[in-house]
Amino acid sequence: MRIKKIAIIEKRHLSILWENSGQTKIKLANLRRNCPCAICDAEREERGSKYIPLYTAEQLTIVNIQTIGHYAIGVQWKDGHNTGIYEFEHLRKLNERDK
Ligand SMILES: [Zn+2]
Repeated sequence: MRIKKIAIIEKRHLSILWENSGQTKIKLANLRRNCPCAICDAEREERGSKYIPLYTAEQLTIVNIQTIGHYAIGVQWKDGHNTGIYEFEHLRKLNERDK
């Protein structure tokens, strides 16, 4: 799986165009909520699955996206959080079909 193009749409969605297999579109709030890093993982564990966090604008603004090999992207948020490595498979699971 390879990425053809990554874009932020209207400051609300992350859009990934895959070379051979269509598009993945994820709400930024959803992306942040599913951050796979150890810190967020521990936080989710502590608060339980029903907890829905409220984010500040900074926490939902992406300042940098880095591709990592051919399997993941690293996302840096404006509040400084940059430990989330999102594997392609994970991103595809977060895909929303309300395009
Ligand atoms: Zn995180």
